[in-house]
Amino acid sequence: MNKKYQIASIPGDGIGKEVIPECEKVLHALSAQNKNIEFNFEHFDWGGDYYRKHGVMMPEDGLDPLRSKDAILFGSAGDPKIPDHITLWGLRLKICQGFDQYANVRPTRILPGIQTPLRNCQPDQLDWVIVRENSEGEYSGLGGRAHQGHPIEVASDMSILTRVGVERVQRYAFRLAQSRPRKHITVITKSNAQRHAMVMWDEIAVQVAKEFPDVTWDKELVDAATARMVNHPESLDTIVATNLHADVLSDLAAALAGSLGIAPTGNIDPERRYPSMFEPIHGSAFDIMGKGLANPIGTFWSAVMMLDFLGEKDLGAKLMQAIEKVTANPKLHTRDLGGTAMMKDVTDAVIAEISK
Ligand code: NAD
Ligand code: MN
Repeated sequence: MNKKYQIASIPGDGIGKEVIPECEKVLHALSAQNKNIEFNFEHFDWGGDYYRKHGVMMPEDGLDPLRSKDAILFGSAGDPKIPDHITLWGLRLKICQGFDQYANVRPTRILPGIQTPLRNCQPDQLDWVIVRENSEGEYSGLGGRAHQGHPIEVASDMSILTRVGVERVQRYAFRLAQSRPRKHITVITKSNAQRHAMVMWDEIAVQVAKEFPDVTWDKELVDAATARMVNHPESLDTIVATNLHADVLSDLAAALAGSLGIAPTGNIDPERRYPSMFEPIHGSAFDIMGKGLANPIGTFWSAVMMLDFLGEKDLGAKLMQAIEKVTANPKLHTRDLGGTAMMKDVTDAVIAEISK
């Protein structure tokens, strides 16, 4: 049976424009080995350059051509000359919120050959997946500013949690925990200081946990969780947290697993009403953009998540094996990992592994 996947490719800005074309090459190489599966990429040139021409990061009706796609592959939004809140809200969050991709899933492992900055951590002691609430909370977008520039200026960002929003993301995270060998989940909270919404978050966790009697769970304050990640990484497995809390924890997780350049993520609509979006967790990396120095592994691993989500588990496993073969070789480490390899060397090596 021939399968042709329609993928929207949105490189965005900075090194996003470098790593996404590399990822397309890798996916084409996979389909060359599996002739019954094809990837058809439609390219969208949205981002900072588009903004300079049109005054918006993506067209007003830009979600329409994405709607029918099987998945979206995304690079990064962020331009040195445009304020970050404009690039982020005008592109990435417009897609995440427009398609209600409420579960942001971030696996973290120490891949073969990669050094963790943790002194006493064996590679198999760090195997986490963080589920980030991706539609509300601290990044609901509600709030405002008045009297700008005057001494009486006022500004607010309102954090909103809804029962529906909390239940669905926690239920997704418990189900994910159930599917992993450890069957353990840690619910991150801050209900000592945030005494309304986070208290509801805790109460809902107690209710949702009852639906999963085979999953063990515990609760951790977000600040204590940072220390636990460093001191007892083996005590954690699946983690669920609000938008801001998980944003911070997952950058820490990426650094503890070796580099921001390796970490992948999926913005998932678990109900599959809309396409889900896969991207490396890093940003535009202004300091290295245009130099061919970017580590493409985070993007390749995101493609593995995409393949798994599309039901192509064998293809995903094949790509992951190729990635791990390549990271195991220090000669193929990019500068963020302390090596001297260029992005192209890593891509070529991954393609060579796939084609073996
Ligand atoms: P960043 O992730 O772009 O860079 C942080 C550091 O990590 C830099 O030193 C960079 O060189 C390095 N790095 C990141 N990815 C790398 C890779 N693949 N290979 C090698 N080194 C890598 O974060 P930042 O500097 O905070 O943000 C830069 C811009 O990107 C900002 O405009 C920000 O808003 C945006 N951003 C976008 C996203 C997104 O679209 N999902 C995420 C984070 C930041
Ligand atoms: Mn972030």
